[in-house]
Amino acid sequence: MDMEQNNLQPQEYQPPQEYQQPQQPQQPGPQPYQPYQQPPQPMKFCKHCGGRIPADAVVCTLCGRQVEELAGSKQAANMPIVINNNNNNNNNNNNNVVAGPGVVYMPQGRARSKWVAVLLCFFVGWLGAHKFYEGKIGMGVLYLFTMGLFGFGILIDFITLIFKPDPYYV
Ligand SMILES: [Zn+2]
Repeated sequence: MDMEQNNLQPQEYQPPQEYQQPQQPQQPGPQPYQPYQQPPQPMKFCKHCGGRIPADAVVCTLCGRQVEELAGSKQAANMPIVINNNNNNNNNNNNNVVAGPGVVYMPQGRARSKWVAVLLCFFVGWLGAHKFYEGKIGMGVLYLFTMGLFGFGILIDFITLIFKPDPYYV
């Protein structure tokens, strides 16, 4: 009897709580401890971390790893890659005006000293020296056999070279 009384005493001590507790489950409204308040969007589980992520998520919002194949990337991979080819083949047409079998092909963009070319043109231009110096072997040979295009070629080349930057590029 004493044990029962000892057990009854804490129960008699707590009646305010027992009076309040039956009411809380009956309250329909708040539901504070519902862990699964499912939002309207469907959910799925990450195959990497098991986290609960939106069904349309491609990358896990929890661990950051990819969980779905990118549909857009497949489409992009299947799309033809358009390469702009407009800038090809326009650069190699200016060099060897007179192309012979013995012409040494000079790659374009070689730097030449302006003043070396000016001096060569002035003193030995009638031999086509400045043309040879520029790598234009065919023109050099032509100058050599025509005395620098009868002097006019030398004159024009000399004036042209004077106004060129130093170095200039052929
Ligand atoms: Zn994850």
